[in-house]
Amino acid sequence: MGQMESIPGIRKHASLPVLLLPFFLSLLPLLLPCPFARADDMKSTIMVGSSRIDVTLDTSEAPLAQPDVMRWVQNAADSVVAYYGRFPVPHLTLRVISFDGSGVGRGTTWGRGGGLIRISAGSKTSAAEFADDWMLTHEMIHLAFPSVADEHHWIEEGISVYVEPIARIRAGHWTAMKMWSDLVRDMPKGLPKEGESGMDHTHTWGRTYWGGALFCFVADVRIRKQTNNAKGLEDALRGILEAGGTINEDWDLEKAFKIGDQAAGVDVLEKLYMDWKDKPVMVDLPAMWKGLGVEADGATVRFLNDAPMAAIRRAMEMGQPSSKGGSGVAPSKKGSAEKNAAAASRPLAVFAGRTARSN
Ligand SMILES: [Zn+2]
Repeated sequence: MGQMESIPGIRKHASLPVLLLPFFLSLLPLLLPCPFARADDMKSTIMVGSSRIDVTLDTSEAPLAQPDVMRWVQNAADSVVAYYGRFPVPHLTLRVISFDGSGVGRGTTWGRGGGLIRISAGSKTSAAEFADDWMLTHEMIHLAFPSVADEHHWIEEGISVYVEPIARIRAGHWTAMKMWSDLVRDMPKGLPKEGESGMDHTHTWGRTYWGGALFCFVADVRIRKQTNNAKGLEDALRGILEAGGTINEDWDLEKAFKIGDQAAGVDVLEKLYMDWKDKPVMVDLPAMWKGLGVEADGATVRFLNDAPMAAIRRAMEMGQPSSKGGSGVAPSKKGSAEKNAAAASRPLAVFAGRTARSN
């Protein structure tokens, strides 16, 4: 338990936009493991259901607007709740460290003290940029899966990469159109390259983040196909969480998959893992997009609602009517149109962390 703390920056990270590297290096002394607030830090607490999030703002480098930060934290927490049905841990310590600039910087999540996330945010970050951020949601999703051995790090990152946009869609903070555009563009990065091995033996950036996401995507589709679209990956992941599988616990991966499969009433995760762990497995992504009714159209996509798996696509986005939590959150909330407009004009550089990071 708590094993992430000894190697910050290696395990459990979201991403590090390349442009922020100099800032980040200058912040390194502040990032040494020390979860305790300093005297001049600003502290706030929000309750999410029965879970408590203690937020500390370290503004020693640059000022941060506390209301903007707290709205950002609330939105990320709401997204995670929309997917999992509840916040994953009873108590999270969230440390936000300011830098002089704009945007959200790197995040790291540990299982220490019930859950600790450290993430950086620029003093010039606009409300729209905070609303667009994916990194904090990604980090919070890490809380909802047990810690597994290093060779399985791909599943920890894969779940966060795959679930994050879906969680944000369900909470009204992202759009299906944008998610599928990103998946069509980025999912091929997870395919095995010439000479690469199985998931447990190929620790490249592409296979860890997008290969892990690809595993989740294929599992989600298979669970929905096998259950006549009554269950999805979320049912498996909620089952793992309900069995106590949080970041604070060290589990064997096989145990997590077995419990997940039982919760969804399938054997998809166990079988897929047996197939993928030791050997490279190709996925026919163009056939997947076609089946789901997702057609690339320049930088965006078009949906074909008469495609054979169009209903599965919609259930992946919004959850099936019978599922708890997922469908209970309206897809659009006040202000989402504004957010969507901001999303449409978002520079690609915001995704640098996902596309450029090498570990
Ligand atoms: Zn991560």
